[in-house]
Amino acid sequence: MTTPVLQVSDLTTTFWTPEGDVHAVSDVSFHIDRGETLGIVGESGSGKSQIFMSVMGLLARNGRASGSVRVTGEEILGVPLNRLNQVRGARMSMIFQDPMTSLNPYLTVRRQMTEVLMTHRGMNESAAAKAAIDMLDRVQIPEAGRRIGMYPHEFSGGMRQRVMIAMALLCGPELLIADEPTTALDVTVQAQILDLLMQLKRDTGMAIALITHDLGVIAGLADRVMVMYGGRVVEEASARDTFKRPQHPYTEGLLKSMPRLDEHGVKRLETIGGQPPNLQDLPGGCTFHPRCRYAVARCAVERPLLRQTDTGRAKACHLDHLGDVA
Ligand code: SF4
Repeated sequence: MTTPVLQVSDLTTTFWTPEGDVHAVSDVSFHIDRGETLGIVGESGSGKSQIFMSVMGLLARNGRASGSVRVTGEEILGVPLNRLNQVRGARMSMIFQDPMTSLNPYLTVRRQMTEVLMTHRGMNESAAAKAAIDMLDRVQIPEAGRRIGMYPHEFSGGMRQRVMIAMALLCGPELLIADEPTTALDVTVQAQILDLLMQLKRDTGMAIALITHDLGVIAGLADRVMVMYGGRVVEEASARDTFKRPQHPYTEGLLKSMPRLDEHGVKRLETIGGQPPNLQDLPGGCTFHPRCRYAVARCAVERPLLRQTDTGRAKACHLDHLGDVA
C-alpha cells in the first residue's frame, strides 16, 4: 500500500470565544492519494475550510487543533514552526478565493516569486527569476517576462488568480489545497482556472484538495467527494456515486439545490429548508435533523456514526436507504 500524500486522523478544531467554544471540526478522518482530487463540499460554516487551515497550521490565534495530520507519512500537527515552514510551500501549498490573501500588494510579482525559490530551493536571483517566468508561462500569463515586474493590482482578477496558482506551484508541491479558487471569478474565467488546475494535476501528478460550496465545481473534476455538515463528514464516495446516487439526505439536498432544467426547459431550484447549525450550540442527535425531510424520532437523540455502506462509500445517517424509516 502506498503512503497517502495527506492522511488526516481524528482531527478536531475548536475556537475559543468569550461566548463559548466554537466546534468547527469534529473527529474528521480522510486521506488523499498521489494524483487524486478530493472535493470537499458543504455550506459555509460546515468546517471544510477550517480542516485545511488546521492542516496548514494557519488557524486564528484562538483556534486549537488536535488529532493527526500526516504529509507523505510525516506528522506535522504541532511540529515547531520552522519545520512546518519547510513543509508548507515545498510539499503542500494553498490557494484562496481572494489572491490578495497570498500576494503582497506592495511587492512586485518578481520579488515575491523569486524570494520563495531562493528560500526553499536555495536558487540565486537570476535562476529564480527564470524559473518564476517559466511558471508564469505555464499558468498561461501572456508576456510573462514583462509582466513579472508588475504589482498584483496591475493584473485582472483571473490573471491574479493565475499568479497565485503559479506562486503555489513554484516548489512543486505534492499537495495543492484550493479553497474556493474560482468563487470570485466570472463563469468563463472560472472554467479556465479549473481547466488549468486539472491540466497542472495531469502534468505534475500532484494531489488536489478542492474546497467548495458548489457541487457544480466538483462535477467532472474530483475523483472522490467528502460532504461536510456541522463540522463532521456526513458522506464520502466517488464523485460518480455521489452525483448518481447520493446516500445522505444532506448530499441529496445539495444536489437538488444545483440549478437544472426540467422537461419544459424551465430552471428549477430546490433549497434545503432552515439554517446551518450554530457551531457553538450544535443540536443533539444527528446535527442535520432539524432540516432533514427524512428525520424520525431516533434522529433527535442519537448521533449517527460515519459507517461504510459500499466499497469506498461511507455515510453518517441512521437510514440504510433514503426514504426508509429507521
Ligand atoms: Fe436525516 Fe436522521 Fe439521517 Fe440525520 S440520521 S440525516 S436526521 S434521516
